[in-house]
Amino acid sequence: MTDLVRRILVLGGGSSGWLVAALLAAEHGPRGLQITVVESSEVPTIGVGEGTWPTMRDTLRRIGLSETEFIRHCQASFKQGSRFDGWIHGRDAADGDRYYHPFTLPVGHGDVDLVPAWLAAGERPFADLASPAVQVCEAGRAPKQEQTPEFAAVANYAYHFDAGLFSQMLREHAVGQLGVRHVVDHVDAVLTQDDGDLRGLQTRAHGLLEADLFVDCSGMTALLIGGHFGVPLKSEREVLFNDAALALQVPYARPDAPLASCTIATAWAKGWIWDIGLPARRGVGCVYSRSHASEEEAQTALHAYLDATGAPAERNAPRPIRFDPGYRERFWVRNCLAIGLSSGFIEPLEASALALVEQSAARLCNELPLRRDVMDGVARRYNEDFVYRWARVIDFLKLHYALSRREDSDYWRLHRDPASWPASMRELLPLWRLRAPARHDFGRIDEIFPAASYQYVLYGMGFRPEPQPVTAATLHTGQACFEEAARQARRFVPALPGHRALIDHIHQTGFPR
Ligand SMILES: Cc1cc2nc3c(=O)[nH]c(=O)nc-3n(C[C@H](O)[C@H](O)[C@H](O)COP(=O)(O)OP(=O)(O)OC[C@H]3O[C@@H](n4cnc5c(N)ncnc54)[C@H](O)[C@@H]3O)c2cc1C
Repeated sequence: MTDLVRRILVLGGGSSGWLVAALLAAEHGPRGLQITVVESSEVPTIGVGEGTWPTMRDTLRRIGLSETEFIRHCQASFKQGSRFDGWIHGRDAADGDRYYHPFTLPVGHGDVDLVPAWLAAGERPFADLASPAVQVCEAGRAPKQEQTPEFAAVANYAYHFDAGLFSQMLREHAVGQLGVRHVVDHVDAVLTQDDGDLRGLQTRAHGLLEADLFVDCSGMTALLIGGHFGVPLKSEREVLFNDAALALQVPYARPDAPLASCTIATAWAKGWIWDIGLPARRGVGCVYSRSHASEEEAQTALHAYLDATGAPAERNAPRPIRFDPGYRERFWVRNCLAIGLSSGFIEPLEASALALVEQSAARLCNELPLRRDVMDGVARRYNEDFVYRWARVIDFLKLHYALSRREDSDYWRLHRDPASWPASMRELLPLWRLRAPARHDFGRIDEIFPAASYQYVLYGMGFRPEPQPVTAATLHTGQACFEEAARQARRFVPALPGHRALIDHIHQTGFPR
């Protein structure tokens, strides 16, 4: 048989290339699948992408990494969700313009309608009432204890990490433990077979690298899916306008400075600023739309933020990054699948990019077509499913902007204009005036953003559903859930170590395995 899929060539050694290669090798290496990663020393990786989604815990476990080693090697910290400052009115967080999107579900989620009890509670933010995670974050606590086993949680969590160290660790593990072949070389040309399938990638020093299946993780150059196959990018610029960022790393003023255990996303007049706390430094970046702001304006906003948050005055110049918000019309063409930035990128909000990489890699592993003749069917289903997933990411990200009442620029006014909303949002928002977002509003059991995330953002942004007739029992059950969340918070906060203290403990002692 000539059409067996035995050799997979991954083009690109960024986070996506190594995640795909490591997962494939962990799950299919033992039965003889050969995996090669080729990466160019001339094309750097994007070097950002340091916030993740809780799915990363399962991905690391599947790859066979130890959580202790991962945290030590990647300078990782725990992320319990995101905090949004200034998104509602453009006021200071101290003035109440702050809400959380925690990863821990609301108590009673899915079983109890919490909205009547929340409306009855006055102006208290929904997440503060519904989940103990807000108090855990505000108290600077870690999401687990020293004795909690690896990857297990008290409060749900993901990670922040150094992107460069993350790729390096995955590479060392994939090559050293899982048998992945690593070729450092520049791909100059793409060779095809008569039927249009890819045959191999021509490199400068290692000749032709042949394979049965190719994974394009070549980043924004999209060498195979865009350059060779010409699959266009479906632009989302009319919905989500951000297309540039300025990124830099800043040290803490003191080595024992508090370590945030959520991503802090602070809105400014023409975009937003991410602030990711790693143990030894912060990663900070200003996201903006070039149609609404100049690079100088973004620089000014970034430095004002750094000044206000106590960053030392001496700073490196921020690195400018541009992107084209959108995703490919198809991701899998013939014997080539694009994963990571080559398949698309919308913007950094809510760390959806690595979460999609994980979903793509897992899907490839689970449905790996073992023969070429079944590949087109797998590809067709993959394409249909991932077009759906990208559309949901866009809906969810737009929700953060569409409900803002900021009046300080056209940027925010335009985001509020329903003409810039996806059709699904125009349909769902009126429905959510009458009832809470629920699981049946979304089509998949493994949605990246579950109904709880929509509730946190919707109600966090101050969207108040119209009060409906409600029984005393429903109201009472919702209030009992809030009391339970408060009870959990009272239990968790004193029992959990400080975030920095737990990171120090992991570096010194590690978790039980
Ligand atoms: C400003 C910004 C902020 C972000 N923040 C987040 C975040 O917080 N959370 C999140 O989940 N995601 C985030 N992302 C997205 C995240 O960075 C990426 O999804 C992730 O890093 C994966 O990138 P990649 O591996 O696809 O591409 P890259 O890191 O760009 O890697 C591309 C690889 O392809 C190789 N290559 C290219 N051309 C050739 C060639 N001709 N020959 C050989 N090799 C070649 C390169 O050498 C490199 O190894 C962010 C992105 C941006 C732009």
